Amino acid sequence: MNLELTIGHLYPDLMNIYGDRGNILCLVERCRRRGIRVTVVAIGLGDPFDPRAYDLVFIGGSQDKEQRWVAQDLVERKGPALRDAVEDGLVVLAVCGGYQLFGHAYRPSEGLDLPGLGIFDITTVHPGPQAPRCIGNIVARWEGGLLVGFENHGGRTYLGPQGAPLARVVAGFGNNAEDGTEGARYQHAFGTYLHGSLLPKNPEFADFLIGLALERKYGPVSLPPLPDTLEHLAHDAAVRRVTGGSMPRRST
Ligand code: GLN
Repeated sequence: MNLELTIGHLYPDLMNIYGDRGNILCLVERCRRRGIRVTVVAIGLGDPFDPRAYDLVFIGGSQDKEQRWVAQDLVERKGPALRDAVEDGLVVLAVCGGYQLFGHAYRPSEGLDLPGLGIFDITTVHPGPQAPRCIGNIVARWEGGLLVGFENHGGRTYLGPQGAPLARVVAGFGNNAEDGTEGARYQHAFGTYLHGSLLPKNPEFADFLIGLALERKYGPVSLPPLPDTLEHLAHDAAVRRVTGGSMPRRST
């Protein structure tokens, strides 16, 4: 069966910080190596959004300024269709600033609150320009495995009563440096603070997203494994660097 996926990349020119575009490159490459054809479509300010055209949607992070530029377009022009599509199982990966805008609202360092999509039951507040930022390498436990990445955010994110975290912090700050949660998930939408970019060093998570998108489109598909030697070396080195080697080399 000729498998194909279409990825919608939201605001690639504005929401792309700390290498977040690398997540798109990783998804494309991991599909290419399996003979899965991938089309990436840039979705910018003012562009219409028809969720039926996409199997996976990605949004990266940004400074407060770019979030201010995209928030109204994201919520008003893309929001209703995005929310319906997530309820229908659309796979979404939202990183940092993009993640924050998938919650109810984001209070930036200065200025007015920005509206969010309300897809994740989260609210984010930046404590102001004098507050220390959450910066550094991070390791978090996800589905029995470990996610590694880099975080740099001022905003502190808090899960609401319906909120479910993506992962639990092992080392680093995560959502708010207080409750040990990292990211959020709802249906097949996943939000995270992990830059790096996230997916190249977390191949199991990348394949998890690809598998969800394929299954929604074609039914259950088993992805042939990739060698991932370099990916695992990078992943394990990051775990050891952050945890001082106290964690097992790879959690299954
Ligand atoms: N501007 C947001 C914050 O400071 C998000 C930052 C980011 O995407 N790295 O929290």
